[in-house]
Amino acid sequence: LVVLENVNKHFGALHVLQDIDLTIARGEVVVVIGPSGSGKSTLCRTINRLETVDSGTIRIDGRPLPAEGRELARLRADVGMVFQSFNLFAHKTVLENVVLGQVKVRRADKKAAEQKARALLERVGVGNQADKYPAQLSGGQQQRVAIARALAMDPKVMLFDEPTSALDPEMINEVLEVMQQLARDGMTMVCVTHEMGFARSAANRVLFMADGRIVEQASPEEFFTNPKSDRAKDFLSKIL
Ligand code: ATP
Ligand code: MG
Repeated sequence: LVVLENVNKHFGALHVLQDIDLTIARGEVVVVIGPSGSGKSTLCRTINRLETVDSGTIRIDGRPLPAEGRELARLRADVGMVFQSFNLFAHKTVLENVVLGQVKVRRADKKAAEQKARALLERVGVGNQADKYPAQLSGGQQQRVAIARALAMDPKVMLFDEPTSALDPEMINEVLEVMQQLARDGMTMVCVTHEMGFARSAANRVLFMADGRIVEQASPEEFFTNPKSDRAKDFLSKIL
């Protein structure tokens, strides 16, 4: 579903993505881990073209990423992204946040979009918050709204970039549970996270990045019990 071939990306002299080859199958849940600065966020951001690449190709569902315009807006809808900071529209209600993209990008009917938004808010456990503004919600609730907003576009794949790292500990699980459920429902997901419990239970594959390269990839059982590279061993010894 998502195919990266020989992708390279520089920030000035810094080679942040080096010869990345990656194929993600439909329904697969890939957890990306690695030290700070290894290129995890950049990898996510290239997949929905928040960053351009210097060479290589990225295809979603067989189609190369569009450069601009309506095609790009549609791609961004196909590739849902949830960030560390929730990025909700502060001056719109929770419901409006989830309705907006459906109407603007997917050209959905307003009434149908509202119905779908309410159902999705229910599904992520914030159905009773629909008429509030983001600032009136807890971090965990806001993040679940952000997930609902991305899901409202019927994405083909969801990218999560450290969705729980800005949250207070007691709110982390409520977000991880929503992600777990999504994974069980068969959503194709790429998740950058330091939540190793989630990686163990939800991931089909763990991808370990260091210095802009995919150093290792394996099933979570394999990776956590028998990491091959020194970089991965060193990293795991620090976080486990
Ligand atoms: P973290 O775990 O801290 O989030 P990361 O693995 O997500 O790290 P990236 O954010 O992808 O790492 O950054 C990879 C490298 O690219 C870092 O050295 C970072 O400083 C650099 N970088 C990221 N974005 C830019 C930018 N817009 N301009 C210049 N350098 C950048
Ligand atoms: Mg990052």
